Amino acid sequence: MEITSINPANNQPIKTYQADSAEVAEEKIRKTHEAWLNWKHTSFAERSTLLKKMAAVLRKRADELARLMALEMGKPLQQGASEVEKCAAVCEYYANHAEAHLQDQVIETDASRSFVTFQPIGVVLAIMPWNFPFWQLFRFLAPALAAGNCGVLKHASNVPGCALAAEEIVREAGFPADVFQTLLVGSDLIPKIIENKLIKAVTLTGSTQAGQKVAQQAGAVLKKTVLELGGSDAYVVLEDADLELAAETCVNSRLINSGQSCIAAKRFIVIESVAGQFTEFFKAKMAAKKMGDPLEQGVEVGPQARKDLRDDLHQQVLKTIEKGAKCILGGEIPAGDHAFYPPTILTDVKPGMPAFDEELFGPVAAIIVAKDEAEAIQLANQSVFGLGSAVFTKDIARGEAIAAQQLEAGSVFVNALVKSDPRLPFGGIKESGYGRELGMFGIHEFVNIKTVFIK
Ligand code: NDP
Repeated sequence: MEITSINPANNQPIKTYQADSAEVAEEKIRKTHEAWLNWKHTSFAERSTLLKKMAAVLRKRADELARLMALEMGKPLQQGASEVEKCAAVCEYYANHAEAHLQDQVIETDASRSFVTFQPIGVVLAIMPWNFPFWQLFRFLAPALAAGNCGVLKHASNVPGCALAAEEIVREAGFPADVFQTLLVGSDLIPKIIENKLIKAVTLTGSTQAGQKVAQQAGAVLKKTVLELGGSDAYVVLEDADLELAAETCVNSRLINSGQSCIAAKRFIVIESVAGQFTEFFKAKMAAKKMGDPLEQGVEVGPQARKDLRDDLHQQVLKTIEKGAKCILGGEIPAGDHAFYPPTILTDVKPGMPAFDEELFGPVAAIIVAKDEAEAIQLANQSVFGLGSAVFTKDIARGEAIAAQQLEAGSVFVNALVKSDPRLPFGGIKESGYGRELGMFGIHEFVNIKTVFIK
């Protein structure tokens, strides 16, 4: 089988790669397991030194990696460079904190000494998406290596160049051979790979459908999974919000990665009395964003990552309009052979429409009007997803109470856009998945939390 990367800005093929056969993939997994038998005995100091070197390699190669992302999945260059910087930051975070996060914890019992120790488990399979080809991977890989685990990657089929570059970065940083390898395989080989006895756990970031399949396969052989899936994040704009700040933040969030982010704001739930004014600010800011060639400086919105995904998005927009929503910006595919989709705003969106019920993975905003705070919160929670959410209000105590107790999501931000941070746990509830990445909680996902009891 071959895997071909295609430039979504012009639909031209970039490069064709020979995919790994089942036998090659099995051999790579065996080698990574062999590497783990030594890696698990390395000290935190050794791991930390290598993670810091990896941060330096990432920074050195930032421009080249940003260009690769722009070509393979359409990310504007500046955003690609920021993504690489964030990967370097997560390496440094775990270089500096893994030892403290994984310190033995003494617990007083009737034993002469009892404690909890956090032991590595082996080779973890990472199934990753194309939207943040490096960040999604490094936020798994940095804590995995820091905890003494090893990893194999099955990356999305449209970013094989990024997948192989990740392997090179680990090697160039000086990690022992094979502690991390890329498997160039399609998802048809994944059931067999999950069954492989040397694979101890699986992490997947991607669609809910892919998550369900992988969780079923891993469940059948009792392997732990962490799933970071889709979202339809609700941003609630209350009547006492700073509307201009709210509109600015909402637009920036909706257009993260040209709209293709699990934690981009997707549904904007605005109190009736301020809906008109908010929509005006919002429209002006959406319309001002520059769409174009991701290799050009100053471009803020690139093409969608694949033409088929862009076409699916457009169908969701059309069906939402058919069901009664109004399109006040965008909503039309520009002429030409490419995967571009313009910033688009749908108003009068209601439950029962795709823009309310489903994830719209592109630069399309759904504005939903609520009569008061209670209805806004009810609408925000009326979703199968629960990844992130935000609330805008000048009354910080009100915002904090809504964030902490009322909105159903893995992260809720007040007066700010939802973003991941190496120091804070990140993940979802409901169909957005389970488990956490990043921070102390993230590094605890793939370790044996072992109890030791000495009489
Ligand atoms: P997928 O979920 O299909 O792809 C994500 C990763 O999972 C890829 O590596 C993919 O491999 C792999 N995969 C897909 N199906 C299986 C399977 N049955 N078994 C094992 N691995 C599998 O996303 P798409 O690229 O098709 O995008 C579709 C939608 O998914 C988007 O429109 C968006 O809604 C959502 N999505 C969410 C993301 C997030 O960050 N939460 C990221 C990407 C997509 P391969 O590429 O070879 O199919």
